[in-house]
Amino acid sequence: MKTDPRRAIPSVDSVLRELGEIDLPRPVLLTLIRRQVAELRKQNVHAAHNLLAEVRAAADDLLRSRIQPVINATGILVHTNLGRSPLPPAAVEALRSVATAYTNLEYDLSTGDRGWRAAYVEHNLAVLCGAEAATVVNNCAAALVLILRHFTRGERKQVMISRGELVQIGGGFRIPEILEVSGAVLREVGTTNKTSLSDYTRAISRQTAMILKVHRSNFFMGGFVESPATESIAALARKKRVPVVEDLGSGAVFATEQTPGVEHEPTPAEVLRQGVGLVCFSGDKLFGGPQAGVIAGRGKLIAALKRDPFFRALRCDKLILAALEATTDLHLHGEMVPIRHMLQVDEAELEARAQRMVAAVGATISAKVGKGKAQIGGGALPQSVISSVTVDLRAADISPTELAARLRRGTPPVVGYVSRDHLKLDLRTVFPGQDEQIIAAVRNAREA
Ligand SMILES: *Cc1c(COP(=O)(O)O)cnc(C)c1O
Repeated sequence: MKTDPRRAIPSVDSVLRELGEIDLPRPVLLTLIRRQVAELRKQNVHAAHNLLAEVRAAADDLLRSRIQPVINATGILVHTNLGRSPLPPAAVEALRSVATAYTNLEYDLSTGDRGWRAAYVEHNLAVLCGAEAATVVNNCAAALVLILRHFTRGERKQVMISRGELVQIGGGFRIPEILEVSGAVLREVGTTNKTSLSDYTRAISRQTAMILKVHRSNFFMGGFVESPATESIAALARKKRVPVVEDLGSGAVFATEQTPGVEHEPTPAEVLRQGVGLVCFSGDKLFGGPQAGVIAGRGKLIAALKRDPFFRALRCDKLILAALEATTDLHLHGEMVPIRHMLQVDEAELEARAQRMVAAVGATISAKVGKGKAQIGGGALPQSVISSVTVDLRAADISPTELAARLRRGTPPVVGYVSRDHLKLDLRTVFPGQDEQIIAAVRNAREA
């Protein structure tokens, strides 16, 4: 390797040659090398024997950050860090067919005039939610900001919300902060554990712009608790002529309680029937589609939101709309989206797959069929524990955390979890077609 005579540091060009094939654009590789060389100079290191290895490690880290398929063996169905819900094949088909072509995105093929961009999905989402109308924006947080901004843009700024619903959902999503950025003024009612209808009645005034209900999606409150029925809040709001909006978060559109151990998650249709004016929910949680925020409810309110200039900043692109259309239609056809299938799949089926996998990897590593507790995740049904089946791995000379790290760094990466002295792979969130890949990954990890 040719070196810089002043310091024993090789030239960028020679490092680039020595690196060999790395699947990164040349300007990116050059940047990595320069950064590493600068680092060596700063540390005044004269021997650069590590340079090549360090550039390779940096390149590997960067490559690993590229979005790629990951095998989710955590048992958490809606895993936000793992991209939430995998798309149904029909949605991918729809996406593919519009992605590389021109489309009728905002073109009315019947008249040849300008058309409305989300006409079909809005129509069918309304049918699915039993609503007069529906629309979509980028995600549920965006839906909430749009709604809050819109209904507090006049004189009335106060948004009434129960103290029991001032929640944080995931990272960086806190209801009080969302209200603040939306220009709304928070009007808390009741207490953390108890809020009654009279708390709402006493607090409602000329300042009240809307009542917000937030589905307690990621935690459960038990014991000395009370909250008024949605119907009575809706009746009060109607009398006072203010809208009631419910943030449902997950928005299941099927009967979640059909899975043993899983609670009933209120559906958008059900909540709208109770008199709520608007509901919003995520497209990529239990709905099983792409990232989106669906808003459904009264026609007048939806129309007003769509006229709000801010709506333009939150609108979805054609790829999302195509995938969402297909996912919505699957639900309307009564077909299973992958996330629903994973939720409902029979344990006996998982057991059979686990046994086969254990037999296949057994020679290289100690493996046995174990029990798992799958969860919905993504802030849905916090009390639900879905019994599941795991493949439990243990190697005499590799710690479970090291084994987990090796599987994570494989291709494709496999993400499980460590429990006691085992690495557990929960099969509820693994597609049957991925079993072979896991077997190969385990063998590789053992040998690495
Ligand atoms: C997940 C969740 C959100 C945020 O949804 P995004 O689609 O991630 O923006 C908002 N509210 C509730 C209750 C949620 O569970």
